Amino acid sequence: MSRIVIVGGGVIGLFTAWYLSKKGAEITVIDRGDLTDGCSFGNAGLIVPSHVVPLASPGMLVKGIKNMFNPTSPLAIRMAPDNDLIRWYMRFAGVASASHVEKSIPVLKELSLFSKDLYSDLKESGELDFPLWHKGLLMLYQSAKIGDELLEEAEIARHAGLEVSTLSATEIQRMEFDAKPRVSGGVHYKSDAHLDPSTLMKSLISGLEKSGVTLIRNCALQKVITSGQKAISLETQSGSFQFDQLVITAGFWSTQILKQLRINLDVQPGKGYSFKVQTARPIHYPALLADANVAVTPFGNNRTQFGGGMELGYGGLKIRQMRIKQIIQAIGQFYPSEVDLKIEQEQIWQGHRPCSFDGLPFIGPIPSFQNVFVGTGHSMMGITLAPATGKLLSELLYENKMSLDIKPFRIDR
Ligand SMILES: Cc1cc2nc3c(=O)[nH]c(=O)nc-3n(C[C@H](O)[C@H](O)[C@H](O)COP(=O)(O)OP(=O)(O)OC[C@H]3O[C@@H](n4cnc5c(N)ncnc54)[C@H](O)[C@@H]3O)c2cc1C
Repeated sequence: MSRIVIVGGGVIGLFTAWYLSKKGAEITVIDRGDLTDGCSFGNAGLIVPSHVVPLASPGMLVKGIKNMFNPTSPLAIRMAPDNDLIRWYMRFAGVASASHVEKSIPVLKELSLFSKDLYSDLKESGELDFPLWHKGLLMLYQSAKIGDELLEEAEIARHAGLEVSTLSATEIQRMEFDAKPRVSGGVHYKSDAHLDPSTLMKSLISGLEKSGVTLIRNCALQKVITSGQKAISLETQSGSFQFDQLVITAGFWSTQILKQLRINLDVQPGKGYSFKVQTARPIHYPALLADANVAVTPFGNNRTQFGGGMELGYGGLKIRQMRIKQIIQAIGQFYPSEVDLKIEQEQIWQGHRPCSFDGLPFIGPIPSFQNVFVGTGHSMMGITLAPATGKLLSELLYENKMSLDIKPFRIDR
């Protein structure tokens, strides 16, 4: 039986373990935390085939440059960039073209719809127990300028074959009556869905443990030992591990691990925040409040999560209160019953999205090693793309027949 070690037990590592366990491999997942402190627990839980336009697009390039030195912008870039961040930004700027967007749309669409189908299969089979809602996603706007951008993106998504409808303020009010009167209009992406990420992760952890996968917590990888074109063992704070195949799914920290193998993966952390509250009135639909880049995810019984912020480049774990204030302000502006929410420090969650330079994930083998594989760089779509990534990696390690072409995600692009 093949022995496989997976480094990093976020949603990507756990789904990789999940699909590999179906193939009968002996799997060990090591994580330097307790499996709850990566990016996968407190995110917005949106499954977003709607996000067909990659982060690396001409529009985002303009926004990025404009907002670079504006500390109040929801999108911020670290003021003291290191060499890795500078290289990431140069590659991002180099690739953010109309032709890259055009090429990426079918690729992202296919991968995310494949992943969404896998979520539906898992839910239907009852193998994993997590709530999955099929209400689509509302993109709401206030300013005409943001409205124009959203309508342009909606047209791109419609052209790509997704089910999209544009909504007037009155139509939105009928669907989400508390959204009046500040919303000018919106777009409903009916192909999107949502889930509660912490419930999904807990269900994955217990499902994996039941199926015999070994999960080792508080075990940080320190060194990868290689021999020729193979990695042969890992040194960790809890001893050494031997394996036949190694999979690196350590979120943005994968870059540090891969440097040991002389691979520069252009992935940067994009920090964001979230918190959950009991709202005064029910919020029915998940939404993105586009003017403020705030995500809204209702989990039932008036329990709603709000999140936002994108601070690019590692700046530590400090919570920027300015961002939390911006999120609270935006909530009051879009949902008048929720003005001036009081959020305690301990309610605030933070996570570092692993952002690839071109907005596509890295899924595949490392060219210079025969037995090392990578799954990271999923940026704002890690929850969306996790089942697909796990399934593709399991196929890559075990079969020659792949469900999808993984060339667009290759490590050496
Ligand atoms: C505010 C916010 C909202 C988001 N909303 C959405 C959304 O609505 N939809 C969506 O699809 N995505 C969303 N995302 C993105 C999504 O959360 C991420 O893409 C995803 O969680 C990344 O998963 P991962 O497994 O790659 O990384 P992580 O979850 O970060 O897991 C990596 C793991 O590796 C471990 N690790 C690191 N270094 C080592 C080491 N040396 N040794 C051992 N273990 C190590 C860490 O402890 C961690 O557990 C959001 C992110 C944020 C921040």
